[in-house]
Amino acid sequence: MKSADLCPEKFRTITLILIQIMVSYKTLGLVNTREMFKKAINGGYAIPAFNFNNMEQLQAIVQAAAETKSPVILQVSKGARNYANQTLLRYMAEGAVEYAKELGWANPQIVLHLDHGDSFELCKSCVDMGFSSVMIDGSHLPYDENVALTKKVVEYAHQYDVTVEGELGVLAGVEDEVQAEHHTYTRPEEVVDFTSKTGCDSLAISIGTSHGAYKFKPEQCTLDPKTGRLVPPPLAFDVLDGVMKELPGFPIVLHGSSSVPQEYVDMINKYGGNLEAAIGIPEEELRKAAKSAVCKINIDSDSRLAMTAAIRKVFAEKPAEFDPRKYLGPARDEMKKLYTHKIINVLGSDGKAE
Ligand SMILES: [Zn+2]
Repeated sequence: MKSADLCPEKFRTITLILIQIMVSYKTLGLVNTREMFKKAINGGYAIPAFNFNNMEQLQAIVQAAAETKSPVILQVSKGARNYANQTLLRYMAEGAVEYAKELGWANPQIVLHLDHGDSFELCKSCVDMGFSSVMIDGSHLPYDENVALTKKVVEYAHQYDVTVEGELGVLAGVEDEVQAEHHTYTRPEEVVDFTSKTGCDSLAISIGTSHGAYKFKPEQCTLDPKTGRLVPPPLAFDVLDGVMKELPGFPIVLHGSSSVPQEYVDMINKYGGNLEAAIGIPEEELRKAAKSAVCKINIDSDSRLAMTAAIRKVFAEKPAEFDPRKYLGPARDEMKKLYTHKIINVLGSDGKAE
């Protein structure tokens, strides 16, 4: 194209297209995970990674994080991105930063993270759209292909100072499009090779956590005679220890770490739901993990349960109610209570981002 062809109108159109193509997370007020993870490992706590796909969840997360001054990772899965629209999500994240400031959080530490990216193209598109962190999940691929794919994403993302989470080992359970029948623990002997070849910034590992609200079958659990509740088998802390020995001080991530609070399961069932034998990870185990090199803990199902329980209660008790604010409002309050509890009592990240 000759320069004479570039009339002001064309120039403006091209500039607008370019602005729409690339958005740096820095202009949205977001941060990547690098400093956050370093502080979390040194401080013996973990950063909450909460999934969101609607306004009420986002409001609850931001309110809980702002009030407790906790750094927070807003996670978006591929399914959530399709559900909510990626452009809208970007503005929601930008809005989250501004909203946090309005709530009195002077220096919000908020990450917008892609959960379970399954291709280079998806990760690239998120980097280009203002995400500050992405996960590339090649854990289902043969080892060498996982290395190659993760490396390719890292090389692209690092050009824009976007941090990348890789994964070794396979988690059982179902989460959006991610599902596996059985888990395969991470092999500590692979982690040094994987992280050095790919250059990833953090590593998700498999030590017995899993996706969804049915993390264990009742026959895998033992009955606590005091409470009458099922206690799942412990997480494989020996695998975590092995990984930490190989990679001292490297940020480790736990997926599928909802505890499936019995009170929400009971509430859902009481008000017409049908969740049978839903079992999660006991919070004591997560508390122990948060004190180690585990510096990001993913929690999604618990917020779904809190939301559903609160909505079902309103529907059952006030069948004439049809104003969505009257049932989404209580759902938001219940989620905020849950997020605040996780931050203060499980992850210990409160007061870490003044
Ligand atoms: Zn996951």
